[in-house]
Amino acid sequence: MWAASEEDAKAVQLYLKVGKHEAIDKAIKTVERTRNHTTGVLVLDYVNEEVDGSRKDEYRFKLNIAMGQYADAARDAMEMARLEQEEGNYRVAHDKLFGTVQQLEGLNKAVPTELMRMLSLLHSYTLVKSLIAVEDHMCAARMLIRVARNISKFPKHVVPILTSTVIECHRAGLKKTSYEYASMLMRPEYRNEVAMKYKKKIELMVRKPDKEAEEAEEVMTPCPFCEMPGPETELQCVSCQNIIPFDLATGKRITLADWSECPKCNFPASARMFIRILATERRCPMCNDEVVVDSVRKVANPVEALRAKHEAASGMGGA
Ligand SMILES: [Zn+2]
Ligand SMILES: [Zn+2]
Repeated sequence: MWAASEEDAKAVQLYLKVGKHEAIDKAIKTVERTRNHTTGVLVLDYVNEEVDGSRKDEYRFKLNIAMGQYADAARDAMEMARLEQEEGNYRVAHDKLFGTVQQLEGLNKAVPTELMRMLSLLHSYTLVKSLIAVEDHMCAARMLIRVARNISKFPKHVVPILTSTVIECHRAGLKKTSYEYASMLMRPEYRNEVAMKYKKKIELMVRKPDKEAEEAEEVMTPCPFCEMPGPETELQCVSCQNIIPFDLATGKRITLADWSECPKCNFPASARMFIRILATERRCPMCNDEVVVDSVRKVANPVEALRAKHEAASGMGGA
């Protein structure tokens, strides 16, 4: 046993001396096979010092997975995504997090709640374009409200996002919320950055608010775990406290009655809305793969699907 391990350690040292990408891959494979922590740390140190850019992140992720350090892998991925998000690279951040979810789920490992929360927020942003394309302005408005409530996480695009929120809320008849964000945009720190095209209209909205404006309450849907109704964009149930899986096609909580999934990435989707988006965009808004409308099916047993998701989230999905 000991001899084999020593040989492996030597092999890893040789790979690192070669230092080419192929050799690093082989070193990581050896770590994966032997699960030897010391060798893992050796490779990790090498990668940290000698490799640059996105490849370094990629290797670090692979190494953490190889060493069985799933929490570290997830934390690294979140940190990388956070940096991309701060730079305004929302799709890159989204795909990084989604890739991590798929890797962890593929290994039956827990996906941290915080990572899912980050993904749902980024997905809310990236989904807006598709929702506007299918002319669901209410859903687009709901997603933008979610993003606007977390606007500090989108520092590069505060004004454009708040402007879109005002416009979509207005289109959807959410006049009070539209007014709220219009007022925010008229603060001195934002006012001058508002696009000319919208400035006059937004100024007018704030100067002459519609005093009679009423706003429809958010639609309530049952929690799939305990059936307690809650606002459809609220992803944590106030009754049973469970985190409810979100629907890739609406960004809202999934419901048992309309549960399907993307045939390419298996992420939950409400069948009706997913099909509507696919008919226009032809691609899954989550994994970005091409999906044929006819291939979307409702899952046969949504209760079972929910249980599997819940177990995956809590890391109970086996070793
Ligand atoms: Zn519940
Ligand atoms: Zn997909």
